[in-house]
Amino acid sequence: MDHAPTEDIMATRKLIGTDQPFPIGKIVCLARNYAEHARELGNETPAAPVLFMKPASSVIGDGDTVRIPTYSQECHYEVELAVLIGSKARAVTLDCALEHVAGYGVAIDMTLRDVQNELKAKGLPWEIAKGFDTACPLSGFVPAGAVADPHALNLKLSVNGEIRQNGTTADMIHRIAQIIAHISAIFTLEPGDVILTGTPAGVGPVRAGEIMTAEIATVGRLTIPVA
Ligand code: MG
Repeated sequence: MDHAPTEDIMATRKLIGTDQPFPIGKIVCLARNYAEHARELGNETPAAPVLFMKPASSVIGDGDTVRIPTYSQECHYEVELAVLIGSKARAVTLDCALEHVAGYGVAIDMTLRDVQNELKAKGLPWEIAKGFDTACPLSGFVPAGAVADPHALNLKLSVNGEIRQNGTTADMIHRIAQIIAHISAIFTLEPGDVILTGTPAGVGPVRAGEIMTAEIATVGRLTIPVA
């Protein structure tokens, strides 16, 4: 299926095994949440989470196509564990944070690296490098209760069958409870909001005609062509 992301259907995701629909809200993303990835891009490891957002309009599903905008020559994949928020969270404590997680899924944080680097160098915001249409392939979500330990998950991304990223959520610098506590003190989190928890090392370019496969064992899988 290759429907245009611009069609007038609000992105929604269901918890697998339930009928509960979640219209996707804001997508809050962490940068530099894996030390080895921060190093590969020449960035320091941050003391506090580095946050940015993608709009809901950037979401596509399994089998949909990422379309690289004409203003970029270098589009990178970043496989990430996605956290679906199930209930309103405002300034929640570390102890209560995980109660607001409805489920876990797989996302690819598509990034126009050339555009982002230019914006970073000028001290400008990154949205056009991170939030363009099709920039957020997102799977369905498995209920949180089905994931024994979200910090013991293998993340893999392949391009045309060749493995490029192979990491573990055990290597996150800021952990999920800490991330939710931190974000919810700044932006109230609402049902349908999604958090992208950062990517492990191995990011790199993908080109038109290639096919990405992203997989997190027990959580989900995405097959995404690139145009
Ligand atoms: Mg990322």
